[in-house]
Amino acid sequence: MPTGTLYTVSAPSGAGKTSLVKALVDSDNQVTVSISHTTRAMRPGEVNGVDYHFVERVEFLAMLEQNAFLEHAQVYGDNYYGTSKGSIEEILASGRDVILEIDWQGAAQVRRLLPDTVGIFILPPSQETLCQRLTGRGQDDQAEIDRRMDQAIDEMTHYVEADYLVINDHFDQALVELRSIITAQRQRLEQQQLRHGELLKALLRH
Ligand code: 5GP
Repeated sequence: MPTGTLYTVSAPSGAGKTSLVKALVDSDNQVTVSISHTTRAMRPGEVNGVDYHFVERVEFLAMLEQNAFLEHAQVYGDNYYGTSKGSIEEILASGRDVILEIDWQGAAQVRRLLPDTVGIFILPPSQETLCQRLTGRGQDDQAEIDRRMDQAIDEMTHYVEADYLVINDHFDQALVELRSIITAQRQRLEQQQLRHGELLKALLRH
């Protein structure tokens, strides 16, 4: 059995990353998304244990102390976000792929620790679209939107660190492109050798 591939998917807030990853995961039972821990406040509609594990700052810092995180970062000011080690090791060992929806700082940490990680960056088709998407969400006030727009531009400068780039102009097309990255990765020689060892041996028998 091949071990699963670890992906990081990074994007500025409002690029549509979460919807794309959700659609991907819903249609492919070999890939799963890791649920991060965060200290930020829950938004309306979010569910603890589904969107994030929402924890108090002291709890997050205690986990950090216990070395429970594969990576962590402070994103948008004061809020901590992190990927717990426990949540991904088991899944990868079972041969399933794991997606980490994390910011560029987290992606850089993961890449350093696990160099086989595949980095995907999602960008919006324009700044105007990004701004509309941030406003359209209707969950943050104007000051928060302005702050997030600045942060989004900073985040976008890190697209060059990824292996793959998807521009999310039309959702369906972006989803096809995202799926094609996962598919291509599964067809890599080393992965296929592990998956089809017996077949390959049999095919080469004289
Ligand atoms: P939001 O608060 O809008 O859900 O997420 C804000 C940012 O935090 C996004 O860029 C998201 O990718 C990032 N993020 C979410 N979870 C994690 C995590 O576990 N680690 C890191 N480094 N960033 C995360």
